[in-house]
Amino acid sequence: MLVVMRRDALPEQIKAVTRAIDEMGYTARPIPGGQRTAIGVVGNRRGVDPGGLPALAGVLEVIPVTHPYKQVSREWKADDTIVNIGAGVAFGGPHVPLIAGPCSVEGESEILEIAHMVRAAGAHALRGGAFKPRTSPYSFQGHGERGLEMLARAREETGLPVVTEAVDPDGVNLVAQYADVVQIGARNMQNYPVLRRAGRCGKPVLLKRGLSATIEEFLLAAEYVLAEGNSDVILCERGVRSFDPYTRNVFDLTAVPVVKGLSHLPIIADPSHGTGLRDKVPPMARAAVAAGADGLIVEVHQTPNRALSDGAQSIYPEQLEAMMAGMAAIAESIGRRLGSV
Ligand code: PEP
Ligand code: MN
Repeated sequence: MLVVMRRDALPEQIKAVTRAIDEMGYTARPIPGGQRTAIGVVGNRRGVDPGGLPALAGVLEVIPVTHPYKQVSREWKADDTIVNIGAGVAFGGPHVPLIAGPCSVEGESEILEIAHMVRAAGAHALRGGAFKPRTSPYSFQGHGERGLEMLARAREETGLPVVTEAVDPDGVNLVAQYADVVQIGARNMQNYPVLRRAGRCGKPVLLKRGLSATIEEFLLAAEYVLAEGNSDVILCERGVRSFDPYTRNVFDLTAVPVVKGLSHLPIIADPSHGTGLRDKVPPMARAAVAAGADGLIVEVHQTPNRALSDGAQSIYPEQLEAMMAGMAAIAESIGRRLGSV
């Protein structure tokens, strides 16, 4: 439930509503907005009887939140949330930024070289995994903290904000010390200790859709992060498991407008994991922009056939610039702009 205060509500009136909610045995979460303050009610298992709340001074209306996720929902917050990750890169506003880089941080010279290349091509942030959740225990698992140090160095040299994955709760805090955005991958979308830790890590979180997660499960996963007090969450559609083995996943671009209707959080798209096929990445990147994605994350590698992970879906740096030109034209046609602020 959400208690919407009148525009001219006094601070004492807001305090009185908060107290009344506490006395009902629930927790009040004031949400200051540009236009008005709303007070969310959390801690209830079932629907809340609003009791005397609608009659309190300063209350405009009491809205039941009909979804199992609350703080993530549009009912809770009507305006789009804009997540700033630094260096003028913001997701959820008029600009559509592109995060680019290799699947894995393979070594210092490799990450520095590709960071400069994606920057030269126009990318707005750098990706690269230091902790890799691999399907096989025998595959390259990432360089761990050394990889984070290499990413920090790449940021220093290029000025690009860094997005990188954490795979366990302690890793979340470690990654947050180095990165600008803590990525939670598809395999950990429902790892609740990781989600809770991300909610307290003090950095924006990039949450990828689970391998076979419904949209409701995806939004409930984000709710874990918001419930811990962190509303800087960027959702990411990266394809879901299906019956057709032709592409790695079925890239569910419908999720973009659906999530934007249900939630105020920004949603970006990952056509690399979504398709698994290099030559399908540029057309699906354009399609993602057309569908209203608030950004993209794309794997790029200088020598994809020698990549330690996900080479088949990594585009060549030379492809990046042309792909971005196509995306920019699409963005413009729908009143947005590829880029940072
Ligand atoms: C990745 O970004 O390299 C990754 C492992 O993605 P996902 O979690 O979507 O599979
Ligand atoms: Mn990958």
